[in-house]
Amino acid sequence: MAENDERAFASRTKWDVTVAGGGTAGFVAAIAAARAGAHTLLVERYQTLGGMMTGGLVIGIHTMRIHQGISTVNPYQETTYQSQQVVRGIAQEVVDRLIEMGGAFSRKGESSSIVRFDPELLKYLISEMLDEAGVEVWLDSLMTDVVVEDGMVKAILVNNKSGRHLVEADVFIDATGDADLAVAAGAPWELGRPQDGRTMPASMVFTMGGVDLPKLFAFVRENPEGLESGSIDGIEQRYCEDKPILVRYSTKALKNVDPADLPRAPGARNPITHFQVSTSIRGGQIVRTETNHIMDSVYGLDLANASDLSEGIQRARRHVMQAVNFYRKYIPGYENAYLLQTADQLGVRETRRIVGDYVMTAEDVLNATKFPDKIARGGRAMNIHSEDGWSAAAEGFSGKQWLEIKDGKAYDVPYRALLPKDVEGLLVAGRCISVDHMALGSLRGEPLCMATGQAAGVAAALSSQLKVTPRQLDISLIQRKLIEQNADLGGIPDAPPAGA
Ligand SMILES: Cc1cc2nc3c(=O)[nH]c(=O)nc-3n(C[C@H](O)[C@H](O)[C@H](O)COP(=O)(O)OP(=O)(O)OC[C@H]3O[C@@H](n4cnc5c(N)ncnc54)[C@H](O)[C@@H]3O)c2cc1C
Repeated sequence: MAENDERAFASRTKWDVTVAGGGTAGFVAAIAAARAGAHTLLVERYQTLGGMMTGGLVIGIHTMRIHQGISTVNPYQETTYQSQQVVRGIAQEVVDRLIEMGGAFSRKGESSSIVRFDPELLKYLISEMLDEAGVEVWLDSLMTDVVVEDGMVKAILVNNKSGRHLVEADVFIDATGDADLAVAAGAPWELGRPQDGRTMPASMVFTMGGVDLPKLFAFVRENPEGLESGSIDGIEQRYCEDKPILVRYSTKALKNVDPADLPRAPGARNPITHFQVSTSIRGGQIVRTETNHIMDSVYGLDLANASDLSEGIQRARRHVMQAVNFYRKYIPGYENAYLLQTADQLGVRETRRIVGDYVMTAEDVLNATKFPDKIARGGRAMNIHSEDGWSAAAEGFSGKQWLEIKDGKAYDVPYRALLPKDVEGLLVAGRCISVDHMALGSLRGEPLCMATGQAAGVAAALSSQLKVTPRQLDISLIQRKLIEQNADLGGIPDAPPAGA
């Protein structure tokens, strides 16, 4: 890359902090950095900010609390506030402001176990919050390359309609989900499960309109054996109270199904074994005729690879049509329903994870390990979607495992998991931080992606101001600034007395 060839660039700019990727972690990172005083640029390849939360239609924030029994003890997470809340900060502010706009189902100041929200209002809110914080935003702008000198990231290259731009900064944050920046800078990374690199599957989220839910409830009442979560009384009660609901039902309990009609994703061992519907919130109320659907449909592809991604998106669209046809043919209440919307972005659960100064493991999550350099806390169970489609291990819960933390405790996320090995001037946030395949099942949830985004933003701003690399920063400064920004670290050790 001809860094010093001025003619090659449409612009050359210099920032305190630049964030690549304006998704779940990235928009929060940019807000946190700007609020901490940094002159901040956010670069996003699409026209929508919010990543999976908006473009991906993943409209249930799960969970800011300590996870408690998703299928048995607590089937109604959308209306549950019992367990301890461990993620706050900008994530809670987003929930509060969405509630004010009629765009989320929760309580101000605290979050239900799953917060259902309106992705259209979130798109608007993110823009407002970035604007208020003074972040410069470049949409439709793809980060394509990086300039590294002696292991230090100096600049990134961004392509958009105006040409190729050289963007310099004191500190960069990689919030691309795929670790595009870190990998281009030479950071080590891992992919998928240890034995063969296969990742959790992707899903294209879709919504259906024209749904007759009372008809579905009547069918479930007559055939309760297929219900995988909760009771029909509990679901109907919530529906009547205008609260969000989720119905998860086994396809085996449906009537007269021709097995050839069951949606089957290429590369999956089996066709689907259950269907799941949840309601949407729009304009401050639950929409009674619209349902949101997530089905695993893309297996065995590397979705950080452009040609695999294109293939995956097309597979997912075919799978959505199979699913819609299946719903209309076999699921009571869906006879006259129609495909309302598919997500603009394929729902990618897993691609590259950087190898950082510390790699968080499944044991760290399950044992609720504490770290002195904590920058966030998590309580979500490890949710592993079967890499092959309904493996024996995941059979019990429709292709997914939910492995909860022992004794109902929270784990800490160490700052070192945001620092890619062998590279300076760079932090990573969101699902590409330094965790193992199983631990990702917990940390990839939207709450932790927002929390690691906030931590990366604060650390980047401090690093720029104090003229030290992120690795050289005093952890207590980051922790104190995060607490000032209302993050929940569950208490931190007191600062040592002056002169100690
Ligand atoms: C199908 C599915 C269901 C899920 N269900 C839930 C759930 O119920 N609850 C929950 O809490 N979590 C859920 N998750 C997990 C969660 O939504 C994601 O893991 C999380 O949102 C990822 O955040 P992120 O910031 O790392 O990535 P993203 O939100 O994907 O953001 C990455 C951003 O970077 C941009 N980008 C990428 N490359 C570049 C580049 N080179 N240049 C510029 N921009 C770039 C992308 O366009 C995107 O905006 C689900 C995930 C999936 C896929």
